[in-house]
Amino acid sequence: MAKEQVIEEPFLFHDGVERPITIKLSSRARRIQIKIDHHGGGIHLTLPKSVKPIKGLEFIKKQQAWILAKLSRLEEGHPFEDGMKLPFKGRICRVHHSPGRGLISYLPEQAEIRVHGQIEHLPRRLLDWLRKEAKSDLSQRSVAKAHKLGITIKQITIRDQKTRWGSCSSNKTLSYSWRLIMAPPTVLDYMAAHEVAHLKEMNHGPNFWHLTDSLLDPCTNREEAQRWLKNEGRKLFAYGRD
Ligand SMILES: [Zn+2]
Repeated sequence: MAKEQVIEEPFLFHDGVERPITIKLSSRARRIQIKIDHHGGGIHLTLPKSVKPIKGLEFIKKQQAWILAKLSRLEEGHPFEDGMKLPFKGRICRVHHSPGRGLISYLPEQAEIRVHGQIEHLPRRLLDWLRKEAKSDLSQRSVAKAHKLGITIKQITIRDQKTRWGSCSSNKTLSYSWRLIMAPPTVLDYMAAHEVAHLKEMNHGPNFWHLTDSLLDPCTNREEAQRWLKNEGRKLFAYGRD
């Protein structure tokens, strides 16, 4: 009987979530192996006896995009379709298909997003609309905040990044995930403040956080927004897929 030793180590993934890694030291294993269990989403790392756990965690670090992609696929998808529930600016809305021509409309009093046109085009039209809404909301916030710092943003792009909500490049281009438009407005506000602050401070030091806080709307609480992204953010990746 081969001897096995099992330890558990927390690991901070780049989506900001700390997840426990179960590490098994096995005298039979020939190579490093990662397994995700399909029920609880537990992450299991098997190491040959000769490999130190620290080396195993380095391996996890290299593979984390793959692990996060696997974990997100374990969650049930919410495809874009007539009748689905979709969060929009933090509010759960009902997607309602309505025949005939017309632009997509958001009816806040009814918590409804009305999509016209042929039903087979609904998923694509809804996605295009969400991306457009994300761009408009985040652009307005970013431009206003950058203006406070006397900086002109070169470009704002909307993407579907798997591992981050936003980024800032040295040529003053900001990128955001369109999925943020599903989050509450204070989360959008925090993300815009965060990326705009990077235009001046390309790090996460005390000056950066001070600057971020100074750019927030009065009703935005940074810790709350960060907590929301940490606890709820991953769920946003289930929208728009089967
Ligand atoms: Zn940052």
